[in-house]
Amino acid sequence: MNIGFIGLGIMGKPMARNLIKAGYRLTVYDISPESIEEIVAAGAEAGTSARDVASRSEVSITMVPDGPEVEAAVLDSEGALEGAGPGSIIVDMSSISPLVAQKVGKACAEKGIEFIDAPVSGGEPKAVDGTLAIMAGGNREAFDRVLPLFRVMGSSAILTGPVGAGNVTKLANQIMVAVNIAAMGEALVLATKAGLDPDVVYNAVKGGLAGSAVLDAKAPMVISRNFKPGFRIHLHRKDLRNALLTAEALQVSLPFTSLAQQVLVSLVNSDRGDLDHSAIATFIEDMAKTEVKKP
Ligand code: NAD
Repeated sequence: MNIGFIGLGIMGKPMARNLIKAGYRLTVYDISPESIEEIVAAGAEAGTSARDVASRSEVSITMVPDGPEVEAAVLDSEGALEGAGPGSIIVDMSSISPLVAQKVGKACAEKGIEFIDAPVSGGEPKAVDGTLAIMAGGNREAFDRVLPLFRVMGSSAILTGPVGAGNVTKLANQIMVAVNIAAMGEALVLATKAGLDPDVVYNAVKGGLAGSAVLDAKAPMVISRNFKPGFRIHLHRKDLRNALLTAEALQVSLPFTSLAQQVLVSLVNSDRGDLDHSAIATFIEDMAKTEVKKP
């Protein structure tokens, strides 16, 4: 099967690599020529635009930052939809607003092209291992056709509803992750200022009810002062903005998400937007003048 991959960043590169390793023929494109070269060296062919990639592919995957980039990569005159042939499928795996996913899905449907929104969770380590959690929206038949690709990139792939549902699910995921990291930051700052070793505290609680995938991934990063992304603060801010806009449209109050969003805005303003989102903890550290690290 010929697969197109558009958007070769922190996530797109390892996902594309795994598809190549699984034996798929890949044509790739990114606005950064260096990123294209890197994946061509791993066995892909270079595309000259998203449109070119789609014209050579039965399934075209996009993995770009946000809605405007998805619209550019799919709907522009040089976008994937212009190149997509009959029977082909466009799968957007970026995390974007469900409303934008529906807009792109509608434009695809008008041209007879199937569209699936299929954002992921798990971050770079799981993208590398091919163990992402994939949450999809679209029709069942199209989902079943791309399921073998999802099985290469992820360890779970669930169809959650029609187009847009994948991104609603992803927003739910991002709310839980952000608020969890903030709670972890408060807990570890308190323990550290009380004179405890935060690593000992982490090990003592991780097997109990407070244990979580978030805690296991992020507490060691904070304690070792490693904020290399991973998942950038900028991107999490984007996700919570999309969550709050969606909540506003649905008349849902999200008080804790709003608070987490304010923290993310403040971190961006203090030049921490390119750090991993585990650096949410540094906001609480600043207020307590206490750094979470081993004594
Ligand atoms: P990134 O910024 O590292 O990569 C995005 C890539 O898209 C870049 O290489 C950029 O040059 C390219 N791009 C931008 N506009 C383009 C266009 N119009 N055409 C072609 N290429 C274009 O971002 P990332 O961390 O790989 O994240 C990608 C998406 O996955 C985001 O929506 C993010 O929220 C989501 N996500 C990221 C993580 C993570 O841990 N990094 C985890 C889950 C989901």
